[in-house]
Amino acid sequence: MAALNVRSVLVTGSNRGIGLELIRQLAGKSKSPEFIFATCRDPAGPQAQDLKNLAAKNQGIEIIPLDTCKPSSIKAAVAKVTEQLKGSGLNLLINNAGIVKPFTALESETPEGMLEVYKTNVVGTMMVSQAFLPLLRKASHESSQKGMSCSKAAIVNLSSECGSITNLLAWEIAHILNYRCSKTNISEQDSKAALNMLTKCQSLGYAEDQILCVPLHPGWLQTEMGNSAMPAPMTVEEGVQKILDTLSQLSEKDSGTFVDLEGKVLPW
Ligand code: NDP
Repeated sequence: MAALNVRSVLVTGSNRGIGLELIRQLAGKSKSPEFIFATCRDPAGPQAQDLKNLAAKNQGIEIIPLDTCKPSSIKAAVAKVTEQLKGSGLNLLINNAGIVKPFTALESETPEGMLEVYKTNVVGTMMVSQAFLPLLRKASHESSQKGMSCSKAAIVNLSSECGSITNLLAWEIAHILNYRCSKTNISEQDSKAALNMLTKCQSLGYAEDQILCVPLHPGWLQTEMGNSAMPAPMTVEEGVQKILDTLSQLSEKDSGTFVDLEGKVLPW
């Protein structure tokens, strides 16, 4: 992995899937971040056991409760992270938490499904980013690095090529209108179009603060979501290695572009 020289990072939805693997690989780096905030909505529940086992072996991992759809939970998480950082900023926010309502066809999609997925994938991501913005700004302003980078200050929103209006990845496999219109994958067919617009707006709004913002398609990976329509082609370990490698390479020119796990620019 190329050097992702980040001091503090926060990942949402880090109890399983891509989020858990991001935490595992960040903690396993030779020069791992000093602060790794692994957030999930139910740290006490059985779904968080793997994360708790990982944290027990890595002192740098701090598990923090965070339900990205609940403002009170977000506020409490910001307070905990602020306390831990003791006056310094947060370098990298990875908005990974996401859902999909699989097996929905164009004709059978429901208003409830559309709204629930939009709430998590778009509104939740927006609220989390807004809440952590002061810490991201602080990291950017206290950095001596020139230009933008994920090591300095960045928001990375896990999106999906299913959300590309040009590519409409895997339409023939699954319609998943709820997912495609909101943002990311699951059966490789979502399209996270709204999340992509949110990220583009963030890149414009936060450019003055030198905060890099990208929507990133993580590839089709073998997670609960990734395997929901048919087995995904790539292991989560391999995919996350590529993602972290790509994050280390992103710079000012990439902010506001839609990239995949290898850093290739995707069409909107
Ligand atoms: P998983 O379904 O395996 O994991 C989703 C994670 O999101 C879980 O940790 C889940 O927590 C969490 N989550 C869901 N809702 C919330 C919430 N309201 N608050 C906090 N956490 C929440 O998905 P993946 O790991 O595969 O996907 C991660 C991201 O990557 C998603 O945004 C997805 O859209 C995107 N993506 C994935 C692809 C793939 O092939 N796997 C392809 C393209 C994009 P809990 O255990 O509590 O449910």
